[in-house]
Amino acid sequence: MVRRGRIVKGGLWVSGSVTRRDFDVVIIGAGAAGLMCALTAGRRGRRTLVVDHAAKLAEKIRISGGGRCNFTNLHTAPDAFLSANPHFCKSALQQFTPADFIDMVRAHAIAFHEKKLGQLFCDGSAQAIIDMLQAECRAADVDIRLHTAVDAVAKTDDGFLIVTAAGDITAESLVVATGGLSIPKVGATGFGYDIARQFGLAIVPPRPGLVPLTFDDDVLARCKALTGLSVEAKVGFGRTSFAEGLLFTHRGLSGPSILQISSYWQAGEMIMVDLLPGLDASDRLLADKTAKPKADVATCLSGLLPKRLAAAVCDMAGLAGRIADRPDRQLRDLGALVNQWQLVPAGSEGYRTAEVTVGGVDTAALSSKTMQARHVPGLFFIGEVVDVTGHLGGYNFQWAWSSGFVAGQHA
Ligand SMILES: Cc1cc2nc3c(=O)[nH]c(=O)nc-3n(C[C@H](O)[C@H](O)[C@H](O)COP(=O)(O)OP(=O)(O)OC[C@H]3O[C@@H](n4cnc5c(N)ncnc54)[C@H](O)[C@@H]3O)c2cc1C
Repeated sequence: MVRRGRIVKGGLWVSGSVTRRDFDVVIIGAGAAGLMCALTAGRRGRRTLVVDHAAKLAEKIRISGGGRCNFTNLHTAPDAFLSANPHFCKSALQQFTPADFIDMVRAHAIAFHEKKLGQLFCDGSAQAIIDMLQAECRAADVDIRLHTAVDAVAKTDDGFLIVTAAGDITAESLVVATGGLSIPKVGATGFGYDIARQFGLAIVPPRPGLVPLTFDDDVLARCKALTGLSVEAKVGFGRTSFAEGLLFTHRGLSGPSILQISSYWQAGEMIMVDLLPGLDASDRLLADKTAKPKADVATCLSGLLPKRLAAAVCDMAGLAGRIADRPDRQLRDLGALVNQWQLVPAGSEGYRTAEVTVGGVDTAALSSKTMQARHVPGLFFIGEVVDVTGHLGGYNFQWAWSSGFVAGQHA
């Protein structure tokens, strides 16, 4: 049904006589959320089409979790998600839980294991999850069209018009599952935000999340020798902190604790890094001053930290020589640098490497029970395009499954 050229400005479709719609549900985006939505809608008997401009299905699943896809987290709870409305995610997470997704994984005989902290990974390749979703879509008679760029969408009298390079498509419900801006090279675009704006939905300003942070030139020069070093650290921003691994990179900091805090960090603000969580470095240095007065300060500190890191911290504090020659005040300052390193990152590595996009379609415009736009019947937003962002550890996929399932029940 070709209806090109009949979209008026503002995205409104001026209908002639409308016949049968091509599909009940059209989903833009064949990623985690889109495929889950599709198989759910298809199981309900809805004639469902998924379109994606990419050449392959669900590229982010394929590259996720180091190729093994951390597909959910056993400890999924609303407090593991950032959103302007922290309550928004609750309904979807209750309607489709990690146990529900695990049931599907088990039904497809995909072997998996808990790596740590409730994080479930495939034993083998992440491709198994893609194959599972594709098989479920096939069983539910879902039509999937790749290489299909969507140029525009518009509301019609009784549904939606989706203008693609391969022709126009009509549908009763339109689901936007286009994800966030991270990793443009696997197909990420801001198209979902454009659709939201077109229909008057607000956008919480997007920014890269779960992303390494960078040093300014001064700190970079002092930390250059630390590239590749990892330690357990507690990293905080405001009232939020994470105690996990921290990795020095050739440009700044990475590792789980940094990735986690990056989703909260605001540009230009300070983060607090405790390089020795659970131990008071000042107390230990003052005790060393009494116990081994002839020892070098850096040597004493290397009893607490890896040698390279101890040397860099002493360099940053400008302390050298015998510990007995250093006033207590200086040793306390050195200890504070270890336990409360106040660091203003120069920036982040950006969308090129960010695992997620924080922000997105403002949840105030959506029903948390259905993911439908409150003022545009039949229009749904799911997955990462929405202003709900999970912590590192399988939470983002669980949000994709949960929000996709919920929309699939109502679209
Ligand atoms: C390297 C990496 C590793 C990750 N590892 C994990 C992990 O182990 N566990 C976890 O929980 N999360 C992980 N994530 C995050 C997770 O991948 C995302 O949160 C999740 O994929 C979001 O699902 P989605 O369906 O909303 O969006 P996506 O999976 O991004 O899918 C969106 C789809 O929309 C398509 N699209 C975009 N624009 C258009 C357009 N204009 N027209 C047509 N199609 C379009 C894209 O091609 C894409 O296929 C990782 C992310 C990255 C980048």
